[in-house]
Amino acid sequence: MRPADVSMPSAIASRPRDPRGYPVPAITPWEGGVPQFASLSMRRVFLCVTQRRCTVCGLEVPPGPLWRVVDGEEAEMLAEVLAAGVGGKFQNAAPTQEGPGHRLCMIYSAMVCPFLGGPEARRGEAANSYGEQIPRGEARGQKGGVAAYDGCEFRSTPVGPGVVYGHPLDLIEYERGEDLLDELNKALADEAGTVVGPCPEWLLDDEAATEAAFVRAMRGPEEDARARAERRAAQLRKKRQKQAKASRRRNR
Ligand SMILES: [Zn+2]
Repeated sequence: MRPADVSMPSAIASRPRDPRGYPVPAITPWEGGVPQFASLSMRRVFLCVTQRRCTVCGLEVPPGPLWRVVDGEEAEMLAEVLAAGVGGKFQNAAPTQEGPGHRLCMIYSAMVCPFLGGPEARRGEAANSYGEQIPRGEARGQKGGVAAYDGCEFRSTPVGPGVVYGHPLDLIEYERGEDLLDELNKALADEAGTVVGPCPEWLLDDEAATEAAFVRAMRGPEEDARARAERRAAQLRKKRQKQAKASRRRNR
């Protein structure tokens, strides 16, 4: 389905768009003013996960379940686990590059994202996921799902850093984007009237702002305080030099 075919959640409506009108997700990197849909910025994923922000709209996710879109194999596995009532004992320890978000944003993405929309939907570019090469043109699989988890973490693992999800709580299965229309409309009705806050600039179209936010986040509170103090000291030095110069001029 195209964005013109369905109503857009207001959290997504304020995203930057590409020339076709597709809203650009918070985790998509930009290059020279052009969104790079085929790639995904792990810095943006890191910022979203550590700040509990939605990887689609960039806004904060309130306490409660975190949602993500899963492919056919993952959906089948989760369906079995949930049907057996053992979701609380099950955790997939493998990291993924896919970050979580709002239920509504994930339902919308599953319907509109060209790769997620249907069984014959194909990946536009090859990707490398933890050593497993996913070829260009790989199909999504017969089914897809929008899954809820009780949490997630950005973690370094033996195969590389990524998002590790907690226990699964719920699953909405679908084959084609259209199958989710009822769920979307119900979720849109719930969203109506809720306050949609501004998305920080580092999750919009400015990669330099993303980079700066990532560096800040990696520094940790102590180093951050030290860097702030150094900046203040430098400003103070400049101010004093200026004052000294001005007083020399006055005394001439
Ligand atoms: Zn969202």
